[in-house]
Amino acid sequence: MNSIYDCERADLAHSLSPSYRSTQIFKSIYQRWLEDFEQMTDLPKAERTRFAAEFEIHLPEIHRRFDSADGTRRYLIRLDDRELAETVFLPEEHRSTICISSQIGCALACSFCLTGLMGLTRNLSAGEIVTQVLVAQRGNLSEEFRDSFNIVLMGMGEPLHNYDNVMKAIRILHDPEGLNMSMSRMTLSTAGLLPGIERLAQEDDIPNLAISLTGATNEKRDALMPINRKYPIEEILEAVKRFPLRHRQRVTFEYVLLKGVTDSPDDARTLVHLLAGMPAKVNLIPFNEAEELQYRRPSEFTISKFQKILQEGHIDAFVRRNRGNDISAACGQLKRKWAEVLE
Ligand code: SAH
Repeated sequence: MNSIYDCERADLAHSLSPSYRSTQIFKSIYQRWLEDFEQMTDLPKAERTRFAAEFEIHLPEIHRRFDSADGTRRYLIRLDDRELAETVFLPEEHRSTICISSQIGCALACSFCLTGLMGLTRNLSAGEIVTQVLVAQRGNLSEEFRDSFNIVLMGMGEPLHNYDNVMKAIRILHDPEGLNMSMSRMTLSTAGLLPGIERLAQEDDIPNLAISLTGATNEKRDALMPINRKYPIEEILEAVKRFPLRHRQRVTFEYVLLKGVTDSPDDARTLVHLLAGMPAKVNLIPFNEAEELQYRRPSEFTISKFQKILQEGHIDAFVRRNRGNDISAACGQLKRKWAEVLE
């Protein structure tokens, strides 16, 4: 059966008359949290029955939930084919963050990322992306704070490798009659798929852009992120310079600090030169260690020194504290465990 969460409001309007019914349905689903067409009593009985026969409306099952000591929660959400989508909820006093996946696994094989070790299993559908947000929202946010969250596409997968479904999900989440997420509250993070960045720049509604850089020279980046051999740093930066930005908006560059590989003062200075004059900010992510990966996390001293060099070079740089490490929910740690799949 089709999932109602795969539909944009315009898709529903085609098969409905009068078309304001699609607005009623969107409000019922995304604002009133109904999961049963029968409860949509503002629709005529015949329409409710027709929709119930045509569309699945139940949210997917939470296969497992892991709770971190710091409040972070990781969800494994069971999809129709029994694959598991991973979603992370990061609570914050004022505005929480929901981190969602765009694919099961990833094809890009970055050498420091656990998801990269898995290879790609498949793309997620728009509905499978949207429902991750709903599961995390409804499981964590009380009535008063139900809209106090941002969305980051920084879970499993490369969003621009699943362009159409990801953009459809973003439009559904953005719909003012639905969840009404503004574009400035959604961030799409890419390892640097140049054609995808250029295509994104042409859209009417564009979320925030984050680029995972991690190597400041092509030589280093080639070794860490194979995608760089196809789309090298200078081409990515050119595309970022052309990227349309809203007032005061900046592009985020994520930079993973790998001990002895990307964390030297020279690396920091190269980064300053690369980003000088750009509307950019840098998120430094100290490497999250894992048994399967050969890299190490730098010391706190090295991390602060790196940050300081960027700041002295007039680049805004923030250190992203690793949250949810104890439940494998931190950056680059999403990877379903075989035991969990076989259960
Ligand atoms: N494919 C997209 C979305 C994944 S986001 C992208 O690359 O942007 C995941 C972020 O976590 C990326 O910035 C990536 O560089 C970072 N990351 C991956 N593995 C990591 C690890 N082991 N420790 C810290 N950060 C990591």
